[in-house]
Amino acid sequence: MGSVQEKPFTIAIVGAGLGGLSLARGLLRRGIKCQVYEAAPAFAEIGAGLSFAVNSLNALKAVDPACHEMFVKRCNEMSEKKDVYMTYRDGQADNADPITTLYCKGSGQQAVHRTLLVKDMVTLMPEGTFHMNKRLQDLVKEQSGGYTLVFQDGTKVEADAVVGADGIKSKTRQILLGEDNPDAYPKYSGEFGYRSLIPMDEACEVLGDDFAKNGNVNVAPGGLTTTYPVEKGKMLNIVAARDQPTWDSPDWVVPADEDTVKEEFKDCGPKMQQVVSLLKKPQKWSLWHHPTASTFYSGRLAIIGDAAHASTPHQGAGCGQAFEDALVMCMLLAHSSVETADDIERAFAAYDAIRRPRTLRVVETSRENGEVCMMKGADTGEDLEKIKTNLDERFEWIWYENLEKQVDKAVQKLKQLNEGTSDAALPVLPQMVEAS
Ligand SMILES: Cc1cc2nc3c(=O)[nH]c(=O)nc-3n(C[C@H](O)[C@H](O)[C@H](O)COP(=O)(O)OP(=O)(O)OC[C@H]3O[C@@H](n4cnc5c(N)ncnc54)[C@H](O)[C@@H]3O)c2cc1C
Repeated sequence: MGSVQEKPFTIAIVGAGLGGLSLARGLLRRGIKCQVYEAAPAFAEIGAGLSFAVNSLNALKAVDPACHEMFVKRCNEMSEKKDVYMTYRDGQADNADPITTLYCKGSGQQAVHRTLLVKDMVTLMPEGTFHMNKRLQDLVKEQSGGYTLVFQDGTKVEADAVVGADGIKSKTRQILLGEDNPDAYPKYSGEFGYRSLIPMDEACEVLGDDFAKNGNVNVAPGGLTTTYPVEKGKMLNIVAARDQPTWDSPDWVVPADEDTVKEEFKDCGPKMQQVVSLLKKPQKWSLWHHPTASTFYSGRLAIIGDAAHASTPHQGAGCGQAFEDALVMCMLLAHSSVETADDIERAFAAYDAIRRPRTLRVVETSRENGEVCMMKGADTGEDLEKIKTNLDERFEWIWYENLEKQVDKAVQKLKQLNEGTSDAALPVLPQMVEAS
């Protein structure tokens, strides 16, 4: 990117997950000053794998080629077989026979260790732009239209605009949508899952090389297992999910024991039982999502990533949508018509108009795919032929999205808003505390 003119405003980004960090990098390289505030005092060593399809990788590359390079250094193709995204299998059959193998042209599907990629991306942040141990507690709207961010440690900073990238339990979402609004809080999806990373040698011994070294989803009534290699094939990532209509614990993650897991998957076939036999010190992770939001912005506050549209993991698409958010958001803020802080609201409005429908559709179809793969889809039930057809057609609109067109549409929307010719009125939302 050639030399860029710096814009006369600063954006505060709350949260340093892959959403917040990719946005920060995308803004900085387009001449938009930003500061990232992360609640955690340090990044945890433990973590899980994340897989990405072609849209996710292209979005990250367009946001910032340096982030994409970090990704490429870490990632491995999930499958040894070219362009293979995943093989879906009949988890009840003795040999876990394939139902269908999906191919994703341009990427196959690639996987990384989430926390390690986050740490890599932090190293790309210029000194003085990244702050750990800063948990946002409140936002005070200033008369200028900007905000004072109030952190739990009592410190405060000012910014011309705020982007909440603070994940599924987002504080910024609550402030944006109103703390009395049920949509401000995540909803239990009706499922829980076990997650683990297992050394590949161990996984191969139990599952066999071909199964362990390639991506597989085994489907069965009320349960599924997803397995794929990460860290250049050194580890196997496992997600084993089950339906459970309610979640009664106040904690999202509760300990389980190996016998409980065995019992929960006892009606599944041998391959699924082998997969769950690999789980050590299993922990039950309840799965939550954000299926609805009336807006992703108000004034100069916007939300991206899981704060806006957390989804269940069944399409492996959540983080890719955060990268797409970052791309559209930074292209809008970098647009020549966004000259001063007063123009930011229209850029956020255009972001909302373009990103909200697509991302909420990802949330809804991910929930639906959980049902299909737990063999209780309304149109598919336990019929393997119908499940195959459903899976074969499910991902194209996510993977093969034309990102340039999406950005163009967002820019067109911004232009309409600038000219006052858009039919999308700027929303009137719960009032945030105004500074006196
Ligand atoms: C089991 C499972 C498997 C998944 N698999 C995939 C996959 O294969 N592919 C894929 O694309 N997606 C996948 N996802 C989804 C993906 O993990 C998320 O969409 C993505 O990580 C969201 O990134 P984010 O930056 O929006 O949020 P997060 O990664 O949650 O980051 C939010 C950050 O904000 C910080 N924070 C929170 N509150 C505050 C506060 N008040 N102040 C300051 N900082 C704060 C947090 O500490 C955190 O660092 C999966 C999800 C699950 C649950």
